[in-house]
Amino acid sequence: MATGANVQTSTGAGALLSILRDGRARTRAELAELTGLSRSTVSQRLDGLIDQRWVMAGDGAISSGGRPAAMFTFNGGARVVLAADLGATHARLAVIDLAMTVLAERAVELPIDAGPERTLGAVAGAFDELLREAGREPGQVCGAGVGLPGPVEHGSGRPVNPPIMPGWDGFAVPEWLGARLEAPVLVDNDVNIMALGEHWAAGPAVDHLIFIKMGTGIGCGIISGGKLHRGAQGAAGDVGHIRVADADVPCRCGNAGCLEAVAGGASMAAALREAGTEAHGSRDVVALMRAGDLRATRLIRQAGREVGAVMASIVNFFNPSVIVIGGDIAEAGEQVLAGVRETIYSRSLPLATQHLGIRASELGDRAGVIGAAVMVVEHVLAPDTIDRAVAG
Ligand SMILES: [Zn+2]
Repeated sequence: MATGANVQTSTGAGALLSILRDGRARTRAELAELTGLSRSTVSQRLDGLIDQRWVMAGDGAISSGGRPAAMFTFNGGARVVLAADLGATHARLAVIDLAMTVLAERAVELPIDAGPERTLGAVAGAFDELLREAGREPGQVCGAGVGLPGPVEHGSGRPVNPPIMPGWDGFAVPEWLGARLEAPVLVDNDVNIMALGEHWAAGPAVDHLIFIKMGTGIGCGIISGGKLHRGAQGAAGDVGHIRVADADVPCRCGNAGCLEAVAGGASMAAALREAGTEAHGSRDVVALMRAGDLRATRLIRQAGREVGAVMASIVNFFNPSVIVIGGDIAEAGEQVLAGVRETIYSRSLPLATQHLGIRASELGDRAGVIGAAVMVVEHVLAPDTIDRAVAG
């Protein structure tokens, strides 16, 4: 049964579109060769894709027998997605087309604790303005992606007991915002969308990637076989509450000795305050380190080693090819990366670390908004979705 479904999927209009998404123009003959379909079947599927503006046709320069063969390209500019990465106090929003070109983008102050209706109302208003700025119509929007700073149940897109989001528990974000935008809305937690953004930036050759966000809290996003691994309920990657050996520090989750309780930005800031230095969060800790504060520098290095120790086990278990460190603490650069690398390389198996890359985030604070767009683009352009859109 699975094989039959795959065969059907792999030869549908969606499969042709997947080939054209690499941006190269191709002829009917090339597409027939790549898919094993007859040229007439390819033509028929291309007609469907052109009708719905997924593909553009034009005369090519390749000459066979005197006249140029028609060339077909992915029409990535025809539709746009709206992307929002909401944090505790700030949000980043963008209008991005299906070829992942950013058409308009802005960062705004937007406190999440204002509650879902006020926050999402402001997001919708900002999307309207960004669409105008990008010169696009609401009718061109094929979906919106939202990242939230708390746990999200993947199936429903609803936040579940989010600690810093009063009023959001169980709120129907996709339905509420979808009705306002008149487009489908996908929701995930901030770490997962950042992992999607970094995976996109790393390129399609990287299939197994772990993204770790080191900020006030600690969490990770897992890309396995080129796809985001969310787990059964959407809770995969919650490494912040893995118990760290020999630590007995109380954690906000109610347990003690969690990674976050010893290496999170909030715990580092608390340690600095105890020592008489004013610090309120991960950004303050990094700022103090940059200003030459030795205690802050030591804490950040130690946090790198603590995170590295947990990641060493994950490297043995999961065998990623790339580990990307992001979040506010990653801004400390080598001071934190050195500790992570040192511990992973000394504690993981040689086969798992032979070709392992450990590096700082490429996209920085844009990883979430780019990833929110990737989440929607992959959904909209999934071969099955395209097959249905063309058939219907
Ligand atoms: Zn905990």
